[in-house]
Amino acid sequence: MQIVSTVQGQSNVCGIFGHPVGHSFSPVLQNTLFQALNLPAVYTAFDVSPAHLPAAVQGAFAMGILGLNITIPHKKEVMALLSGIDPLAAQIGAVNTLCRRENGFWGYNTDILGLKKCFALHGHSLKGASVLVLGAGGAANAAAFLAASEGAGHLYLANRTRAKAEALASQVQAHYSIAITVCPLEDLSALPTDLLVIQATSVGMGSWESPIQDISFWQNARFVVDIVYTPWETKTVHDARSQGAEAVNGFEMLIYQGIASAELWHGISVDDQTARTLCGLLADYYQNRKDTK
Ligand code: NAP
Repeated sequence: MQIVSTVQGQSNVCGIFGHPVGHSFSPVLQNTLFQALNLPAVYTAFDVSPAHLPAAVQGAFAMGILGLNITIPHKKEVMALLSGIDPLAAQIGAVNTLCRRENGFWGYNTDILGLKKCFALHGHSLKGASVLVLGAGGAANAAAFLAASEGAGHLYLANRTRAKAEALASQVQAHYSIAITVCPLEDLSALPTDLLVIQATSVGMGSWESPIQDISFWQNARFVVDIVYTPWETKTVHDARSQGAEAVNGFEMLIYQGIASAELWHGISVDDQTARTLCGLLADYYQNRKDTK
């Protein structure tokens, strides 16, 4: 038997609401970060069904929970249950982080911050660039708003369901005067070279697939972020690298969105060296987990 003193009476509680949520990597990420920074807090996952979401948010506030992450399928629906929403999260129309305030939770979108950090880490500026976003779901929304808010020169949107890409284009153009072209996923031959590409569909998550079949397309790409990270080298990343593009998976985005959430909850700023160390440590752990083999 061993004394466990990491959780005490004054510890803050944070967590994630999702449905299902058992696969979430956030508890490992956040508890590692909390311990590294000596923050008196614990983080756990809550499987909250859509029917229970209002009671869960109200109950979390009543119980003094400090902060929450929100994942599928609650990122939109939770917005009606908050006392305030960060303007960028409101534009995107999705919230993945709740932060405790005096009168209730405020909503933020740190997916966009994680993705932004990923471009910065690899030295690619979105300003003035031609940017292609694949997908039109929640993650693609954050990607498209990142491109627009960072001043991309031209945004190309390609999604299996064209109408959703057109709706996303209108949503972005309601806030930013940016040139947007919606193109078919099957034919991207008219796109320019030197593209920054964000693969934001769920294609390739746990399978050897890519939304782009013609791999020669990747010769047009300068830098590719595939927001999927299982398998570690996705087919999209593999294809893009084989055609000479620089390509990374979505793990850094995942870690940096989590760091941004923790910064909001605890009112801290995580320094670059700590963030890089955490990212490396968690990447090693993630790739060597038994259940990823
Ligand atoms: P979502 O809202 O359900 O959107 C899914 C997108 O994938 C839609 O655009 C959908 O197209 C497209 N899609 C699905 N199956 C397809 C297929 N067979 N062929 C072509 N397109 C297909 O999901 P999401 O929340 O945006 O998440 C997308 C992925 O990003 C997930 O794998 C998620 O785990 C990952 N993600 C990663 C991070 C990170 O930090 N790295 C953060 C958020 C999400 P239709 O519109 O035609 O259905």
